[in-house]
Amino acid sequence: MAAIQTNSGLPQTDQPRYHFDIYAILEAPQELYFGHETQVNVNMVETVKIATDNDVIEKCYISPTKRRGVERRSLIWAPLPSSGILLGDKLGCGIPHTCAQPDCPICAVYGGLITSNIEVDVLGKRESRKATTTIGRLVHGGGVAIQSIEPSEKQRAMHPSTMHRDDSGITPMPFKRQYNEPALLYPVYNHCMSVTEPEFQAVAYAFLDALARLGAGNPKGVYIAEKPWLNVQQPLLVVDCYLAPLGKRPVISPAITHIETAVVDFVSAATWVHGQTIAATTSTIKRDEWTVFTRWLGNDALVKLQEYATGFVTTVLL
Ligand SMILES: [Zn+2]
Repeated sequence: MAAIQTNSGLPQTDQPRYHFDIYAILEAPQELYFGHETQVNVNMVETVKIATDNDVIEKCYISPTKRRGVERRSLIWAPLPSSGILLGDKLGCGIPHTCAQPDCPICAVYGGLITSNIEVDVLGKRESRKATTTIGRLVHGGGVAIQSIEPSEKQRAMHPSTMHRDDSGITPMPFKRQYNEPALLYPVYNHCMSVTEPEFQAVAYAFLDALARLGAGNPKGVYIAEKPWLNVQQPLLVVDCYLAPLGKRPVISPAITHIETAVVDFVSAATWVHGQTIAATTSTIKRDEWTVFTRWLGNDALVKLQEYATGFVTTVLL
């Protein structure tokens, strides 16, 4: 009789595994372009339609798949200061070829796929890699703008791709491009399933490092929006590490179009933990010797993410 395989395929570790969540409201300080499709010579940005009580509204959108791609590139292009190469070069892991090895700090959390046995050049050496699937344990959500403002359309000129050219035979090609308007707020969420703290370090590094690079072409970049809450001007940011999900999830309904309503909803869910309204920016709930839920808010959450990001640098990049 054939034995049925029930194991997940993930290696056992001596490090405890947890779930981790990041909740944030991002703000773009300038126009933002994230290409979606081209229609009648206009490069369109991605939008979504939302049904409200008496209307259908259109909103700009930083889709979770696009954010995931920017984060993954942050890791692939992370600098290794001592060798002068990038992390993806060292690992032989990039886009579209993902190495899918369980010990790859990128693929372990973002996932990877090799469809058939292949040979890969890694730093000048041939390496055989078998067909492999690694399911990502990091998922991205949110990204629908709070304000309902349609994208604007601008005239642009595509210049010849050479940096310098003596003959002036090639003229710039005019084209139109849509942009998300400045100051749009985008609530976003990252969730990690059953990861170790070293695995989450890559996620924290990628989340923070990708902020300056969200968007396609130029201009690009966002930051974590700040508002006064818990008596301090601080980022709208929540980080959870847990065995049991004991906090309300600060997720903003895409049907909300007012900034003030969205911030009140975010703060009221962020400060609700297991039936209590919390005033501390770090809250912990224990059962026996185990910490079952920890939530960091605002500046504390940012410092926690920065600690994890620094851990990624010291263990993987240095
Ligand atoms: Zn990899």
